[in-house]
Amino acid sequence: MTADLTASALPGQPFIAYQGSDLRVEGVRLADLARTHGTPLFVYSKAAMLSALAAYQRGFAGRQAQICYAMKANSSLAVLQVFADAGCGFDIVSGGELARVLAAGGDPAKVIFSGVGKTRAEMKQALQVGIGCFNVESEAELDVLSEVAVSLGKQAPVSLRVNPNVDPKTHPYISTGLKGNKFGIAHESAVQVYQHAASLPGLKVVGIDCHIGSQITDTTPYLDAMDRILDLVAAIESAGVPIHHIDFGGGLGINYNGDTPPEADALWAQLLAKLDARGYGQRQLMIEPGRSLVGNAGVCLTEVMYLKPGEQKNFCIVDAAMNDLPRPAMYQAFHQIVAVSPRQGEAVAYDVVGPVCESGDWIGRDRQLVVQAGDVLAVLSAGAYCMSMASNYNTRGRAAEVLVDGDQAHLIRQRESAFDTFALEQLVG
Ligand SMILES: *Cc1c(COP(=O)(O)O)cnc(C)c1O
Repeated sequence: MTADLTASALPGQPFIAYQGSDLRVEGVRLADLARTHGTPLFVYSKAAMLSALAAYQRGFAGRQAQICYAMKANSSLAVLQVFADAGCGFDIVSGGELARVLAAGGDPAKVIFSGVGKTRAEMKQALQVGIGCFNVESEAELDVLSEVAVSLGKQAPVSLRVNPNVDPKTHPYISTGLKGNKFGIAHESAVQVYQHAASLPGLKVVGIDCHIGSQITDTTPYLDAMDRILDLVAAIESAGVPIHHIDFGGGLGINYNGDTPPEADALWAQLLAKLDARGYGQRQLMIEPGRSLVGNAGVCLTEVMYLKPGEQKNFCIVDAAMNDLPRPAMYQAFHQIVAVSPRQGEAVAYDVVGPVCESGDWIGRDRQLVVQAGDVLAVLSAGAYCMSMASNYNTRGRAAEVLVDGDQAHLIRQRESAFDTFALEQLVG
């Protein structure tokens, strides 16, 4: 089992590779990081993030396009800094995320604010710093946003998130562009809602947006959604409301388990061909990729604590858990799990589980591993929707994070202590 793992990059993850019998992120040995910083530990490759971004940048070369990183995928400050320095804007979903963008040095003018339920306080905060666009998803929210803007003597730039009603063929929890979904404004009412938006004193219509789902590995849903959106742009503009920018959302998938999503540049070559054919190629374009910029750039290191053989199953109990890696428990998601320093021997099938008191606390099922207590495992494709969804359940402090840049490793988040987890609480009396 070890022979074919040595001296090779992991599939789809060129910056994470075995060299001899050591797994490295760029030039840094993961075994060393686990020893220095402890486990569980998230490790990210800066080069992998920039290379994922470069695929989009190549795809948009010569176009007017703004890439807004959907930061809910991974909102750690140093990760935001990498993208801000590379010229990205940010797609945010809360006032808290806006505060992070500013703390990381991001440009508020390149921020778009998504989500179905923005509070008045969040709207005010975003208007005061001058964000680029509010992506609004209901008439009720349009009315409130206009009111808040008028009270500040401002006009809020808005785009309406329309629901193109296409099936992205992904997990139902991460599919967002279908009719039965809480997201977006129905295709059929879009023209009327745009007219309403254009009539409100506190709003300035600037764009249209959609986001059909996440972990999309097929090109067709994107092409279908684009057709629907362009039909709408034509209808809205002929009803007298000009649309400045078109925002196609995020959603491009990554490799978790041999998935083969299109490369961002290849996907956009097809999408731009359609835009050109329909006469919209020179419009201002926006996209909101999240997972595809960071997902394959990160791993989570975890130490094997105990092996527990059973009659029906063997358990490999590790020190990372569902509070660190929530995707398996939430979506039955698959993450590959490999040894950081593979050993020779007979592989045994294990369920890899954490110490949290829930049967849903598993990280991988039926994995063939050669392991002993004390070994360090790497849970792959852990750069997106892991740390940003991590919790303190079971009063577990959240993991530390390291950003690797060449042969340098920077600690970008300290491990949370138990005290940190209850620092804001008070006894009564
Ligand atoms: C989550 C989200 C994204 C990013 O989705 P990914 O699948 O991570 O690319 C983009 N836009 C909106 C509105 C979102 O909610």
